[in-house]
Amino acid sequence: MIKRYLLAPGPTPVPPEVLLAMAQPVIHHRAPEFAQLFGEVREELKWLFQTANDVLILAASGTGGMEGAVSNFLSPGDRALVVNGGKFGERWGKLCKTFGVQVTEIKVEWGQAVDPQQVADALKKDPTIKAVYVQASETSTGVAHDVRALAEVVRPLEGTILVVDAITALGVFDLQTDAWGLDVVVTGSQKALMLPPGLAFVSVSEKAWTLADKARNAAFYFNFKKERESQVKNQTAYTPAVSLILGLRAVLKMLKAEGLAEVFGRQARLAHAMREGVKAAGLALFPKQSPSDALTAVCAPEGVDGQAIYKNLRVQYGITAAGGQDHLKGKIFRISHMGYADTFDIITAMAAIEMVLKGLGYPVTLGRGVAKAQELLMVKG
Ligand SMILES: *Cc1c(COP(=O)(O)O)cnc(C)c1O
Repeated sequence: MIKRYLLAPGPTPVPPEVLLAMAQPVIHHRAPEFAQLFGEVREELKWLFQTANDVLILAASGTGGMEGAVSNFLSPGDRALVVNGGKFGERWGKLCKTFGVQVTEIKVEWGQAVDPQQVADALKKDPTIKAVYVQASETSTGVAHDVRALAEVVRPLEGTILVVDAITALGVFDLQTDAWGLDVVVTGSQKALMLPPGLAFVSVSEKAWTLADKARNAAFYFNFKKERESQVKNQTAYTPAVSLILGLRAVLKMLKAEGLAEVFGRQARLAHAMREGVKAAGLALFPKQSPSDALTAVCAPEGVDGQAIYKNLRVQYGITAAGGQDHLKGKIFRISHMGYADTFDIITAMAAIEMVLKGLGYPVTLGRGVAKAQELLMVKG
């Protein structure tokens, strides 16, 4: 037997109480019990998103929410600014092109965060840009972009919205949707929200709804206006993922009991211990600045194949992590600590990384990274 540990940046582990909640019999989505459940989770989602606006719940993976965040706000021929600092930034560009949107791309070197001044300059140069698309946490590189600073740039512009892919950010670190002025915030169920894949969530500001009124792109399933009409009445336009929404209620209850600040505190503590542990083991972090607290991207040491590290973690020790994508394949590996994670997920990951590296012939002293993580995570007293 080999015990399995899911430490990939999505899907992430689902807590037992959430699994149990999802095992309840399916409720009919037009029955009053569903409206009651839907009303409850809608309210709690506003708390989680730190917004007074409605948060739409869609039966889709995160990309479905991203697609809607393009098609509902822009028309063919409209202009958008895309921050592309990795695989998911690239996806914003592809989505825009699919819907006939003219894209200006800010290419950010993988491992770096975007300089908000560059966004300000691009918007000044082309005032016809209607939307700025960015990741709060670029999962392919482990970097967090400073969306608060970007919101300061975009907020004063009457005809431009800021659209944030917060799929590995919301529920990991502070993201003040209304206070900062994040117009559209997208997340998914299977990352920090501790659920199986299958739900996307999107908050929309008044400014963005105004833009939606003028948009002429085709959207049938991901039609946000139609969804809002139903969802404000605690209904959905089409059949919702009822079982996942039962799980969502359990997740929101857990997060509420812990408290938002405490959740962010735990996530930050785990991320810090992971990063320091990795460094103590003699390895280098991939992000050159602004690492995301959702996951740690680690450089494979000279002469060691990053894919072999990732593969041996899984095959030898039952740990599913992630490798690098595109030109980073073989160069980095990634460990997630978002969502249902605590002290011993970090210790387990750290210990296994050391064992795998030693197994691959790399000269690590076993226990250095683990000791560092232990020091940082132990409860004093
Ligand atoms: C996982 C992820 C997505 C895509 O989500 P899917 O659920 O696979 O569609 C988009 N953006 C980021 C930053 C992600 O981490």
